[in-house]
Amino acid sequence: MIVTRFAPSPNGMLHLGHAFAAITAHDLAMDAGGRFLVRIEDIDGARSRPELADAFREDLVWLGLTWDEVPAQSSRLTRYDDVAQQLERAGLLYPCICTRSDIAAAAEVTGPEGPVYPGTCKGKALQPSEPAALRLDVAEAIRRSGPLQWQDALAGYQQADPAALGDVVLVRKSEPASYHLAATLDDAEDGVTLVTRGEDLFAATHIHRLLQSLLDLPVPTWHHHPLIVDEEGRKLAKRRGSLSLADLRASGMNGIQLGTDLRAGRYRQHSTH
Ligand code: GLU
Repeated sequence: MIVTRFAPSPNGMLHLGHAFAAITAHDLAMDAGGRFLVRIEDIDGARSRPELADAFREDLVWLGLTWDEVPAQSSRLTRYDDVAQQLERAGLLYPCICTRSDIAAAAEVTGPEGPVYPGTCKGKALQPSEPAALRLDVAEAIRRSGPLQWQDALAGYQQADPAALGDVVLVRKSEPASYHLAATLDDAEDGVTLVTRGEDLFAATHIHRLLQSLLDLPVPTWHHHPLIVDEEGRKLAKRRGSLSLADLRASGMNGIQLGTDLRAGRYRQHSTH
């Protein structure tokens, strides 16, 4: 059975890009007689605003979607912690105290998601009192996993290239898991067979595939869909004040009609494939 999910983070209102993501995941499941799940990705305690989850549900109802909701990330912290400890015992994580600006200053390579962490803290004995993130030793992880592949429904067969993002953070300084670790574990636990999300997360999938191999998790298929863009061709962003679905709803727009327009490609999309 096909199981998809929409996994919004409650750090700002949903916009048209999210509506397209939710509709894509919903339709791919429903057209195949499968299940469509919603998971609130509130791992980032400092930026999450719990009250937004209810606003998200209202938006999804307005779009005419129905779903099964699975537990939010904030209720799965023990599991993340257990798995992080397992990876640490296996010698696959190391502590890092670098700040964003340290990394920007030290990075020699810019990867798909910005400056690639150059491994500054790898092999250093750090003071235990310093707040540290835990990074994946990607070279060691690849050595153990061997070559990996994954399948994207639109972009096709992919040779995994997890090294492109560098030694990513799996445990943040103040949270028991980063997005990469939490989302990979959740998708496995929720039985997601087709991970649908925007193309902006394409590079992240190389890391997720590596984590699946290290943790012996089932391997889904992916479907990275094009992003909805504004008139200038820029990705919609909460911080640039892109119109929220709640604003559109308040302005009297019909959500079912919006869904029809998104499905028919009447909003500008940007695809890298
Ligand atoms: N929580 C992520 C976001 O809101 C989505 C992650 C995913 O679909 O894997 O951008």
